[in-house]
Amino acid sequence: MSNTTHHTVVIIGSGPAGLTAAIYAARANLNPVVVEGEPSSTSDQPGGQLMLTTDVENYPGFPDGVMGPDLMHKFREQAQRFGAQMVTDKVTKVDFSKRPFGVWTGEATPEPTYTAESVIVSTGAQSIMLGLEREAELVGHGLSTCATCDGFFFRDQEIAVVGGGDSAMEEATFLTKFASKVTIIHRRDQLRASKIMQDRAFANEKIEFLWNHVVVDYLGNDKLEGVKVRHTQNSHESELAFAGLFMAIGHKPNTDLFAGQLDMKDSGYLITKPDSTSTNVEGVFACGDVQDDVYRQAVTAAGSGCMAAIEAERWLEAQHS
Ligand code: NAP
Repeated sequence: MSNTTHHTVVIIGSGPAGLTAAIYAARANLNPVVVEGEPSSTSDQPGGQLMLTTDVENYPGFPDGVMGPDLMHKFREQAQRFGAQMVTDKVTKVDFSKRPFGVWTGEATPEPTYTAESVIVSTGAQSIMLGLEREAELVGHGLSTCATCDGFFFRDQEIAVVGGGDSAMEEATFLTKFASKVTIIHRRDQLRASKIMQDRAFANEKIEFLWNHVVVDYLGNDKLEGVKVRHTQNSHESELAFAGLFMAIGHKPNTDLFAGQLDMKDSGYLITKPDSTSTNVEGVFACGDVQDDVYRQAVTAAGSGCMAAIEAERWLEAQHS
């Protein structure tokens, strides 16, 4: 006998986008199931990237700020209050080639774990990190992946940005609003960033460049206090004190699961129709960072989660009329 259960809406991912979609879908009586990810994994832990942050001061409605994990617990509670079913599991396969759509969790089985009339994809993205020891522990404690979110905490302090692309230039330039000095640590002696972004960074008196260097270790115990860097040509190592370090070496959307089924950019971000969360597959919607390589904010993710649920509801209604 098959253990497959059928649902009107299955939501994959439980960051701000997925849980906002769950709140809206549940309140529209669509009885959504949210496959929220697995706690053991950094790429798809329930709650998404905010589970890896500390203070969130830019989410509207929290004038005194809120801890990232607390905010996500509130999102989750709110979705459950209206009947969203949360499943702590990881989606391992999807089949969007026919309807109802198939969604598998766990081991590969012939029959899907869920079939769904509509699927909302909100699997998010992750900042690419250096992979050094204690990295995950230091995120939110001096190590950051978001200048917009955390720059404010480094007023009049010396900080550094790792990377040589547009993100690194943009983050460093933004951070000079707060920091007394920003050092861009880049592994080559030439930037990858566009000319205009480079010129802006070169013209900024608060920005310094440390060329041909890579970060090889984080200094400090509970909180980042500096980095050990290595010269890429002569291997000389030195220690530098920084109150904060911002990682800007790129992002990776969590879209491997959808390869060959959903249209994506070369960078892996899902393509949605303009002003919509519709993907190339009718009935499959994508929201949050998995389809946003521009804003990457919790509040914009939540906004697009709301859009996805409303679009799914309208699409489902049209199927049955
Ligand atoms: P990116 O263009 O891929 O640049 C990543 C940078 O990080 C590169 O300089 C790379 O060094 C460095 N890097 C990668 N892995 C590293 C490692 N393990 N250790 C040390 N350094 C490492 O990524 P991005 O800057 O996030 O930009 C992504 C896309 O978004 C680009 O198309 C960019 O133009 C766009 N974007 C545009 C804007 C804007 O126009 N306002 C702002 C942000 C991003 P190498 O150079 O040596 O490879």
